[in-house]
Amino acid sequence: MDPLPLAQSLLRCPSVTPENAGAQAVLAEALESIGFTVTHLPFGNIKNFYAERPGLGAHLCFAGHTDVVPPGDNWTHDPFAGVVDGGILYGRGACDMKTAIAAFVAAAADTPGHVSLLITGDEEGEALNGTARVLEWMAEAQKIPDFCIVGEPTCRALLGDTIKIGRRGSLSARITVTGRQGHTAYPQKADNPIHRLIPALAAMAAHQLDSGTEWFEPSTLQITSVDVGNPASNVIPGAVFAKLNIRFNNLHTENSLTDWLTETLAPHAPEAEIEIFCSGESFLTEPGPHVEKLGAAIKSVTGVSPDQTTGGGTSDARFIARYCPVAEFGLVGATMHQTDEQVPVAELRTLAAIYRAIIESFAA
Ligand SMILES: [Zn+2]
Repeated sequence: MDPLPLAQSLLRCPSVTPENAGAQAVLAEALESIGFTVTHLPFGNIKNFYAERPGLGAHLCFAGHTDVVPPGDNWTHDPFAGVVDGGILYGRGACDMKTAIAAFVAAAADTPGHVSLLITGDEEGEALNGTARVLEWMAEAQKIPDFCIVGEPTCRALLGDTIKIGRRGSLSARITVTGRQGHTAYPQKADNPIHRLIPALAAMAAHQLDSGTEWFEPSTLQITSVDVGNPASNVIPGAVFAKLNIRFNNLHTENSLTDWLTETLAPHAPEAEIEIFCSGESFLTEPGPHVEKLGAAIKSVTGVSPDQTTGGGTSDARFIARYCPVAEFGLVGATMHQTDEQVPVAELRTLAAIYRAIIESFAA
């Protein structure tokens, strides 16, 4: 099956999160026509579905999203027309990641194998009513797969050059230090919260969280804002706020980092308040037979041996990793979220051939 017509049909649905604009209906129909059973799983205002076809071998799941980010202006071609020009397919989602879904469906059509698809409409948004909720349903229905591939664009320069086997976590903190307002000429009658916050932030920024692991870069902390909003030069302010963000590897967790931040702050500002928002824990799928199958299939089609990395931001793989081993593999990510997002049609077809080889190796 050629993935191009389905890819074009999907690109023609303007499914900017949280809209679906018919994209999942197009996809569900294509899957039902090749023997899949589709279970629609809407949560809140978000459409999602799980589709499965029984078959040989291990249960391989493909996870993807039909939603896209807004197109913005100045496109050469209509971002929702699915235009092919000079062998290049243009459109919002041409790289991230409607085309990868079409490639996987085309691959599944050609290959027996026990495969399923976890499709969400909420990856580019809050991700509250998407993959995480579908996984809860899958666990309940005893449909957790043996292995999951997320079709996000992972490659740097050449199709096949990168598999992501983990991702760093991301934790943001907002710190409030309250003191006692006063006159700068009489500091003994005041308690300057800035003087408490600065040494605490300095200690946090100077601390080396770790020196990385075999698979991860060292964890990093960046202070992103310090705010007082004090218009006067002769007033000691009553409060100061700071924000920071930590990108962390699997030597840390939300809890361990929260403890460390609290302990670092306490000697300087025991009354300080700290609010934590962790958008995802880090995860790692240890290289093993499944990841090796992926690498071998990619090499058999492209001749390229993929690197196994854990860089970049978070993805829905962070939810899947709680249930089963997961890796990410898709197109070259050069134009994701950009104007004139695109994919060469030849690469789309090569991606389908790679997914076909992967399905075959899991079915064997
Ligand atoms: Zn994506």
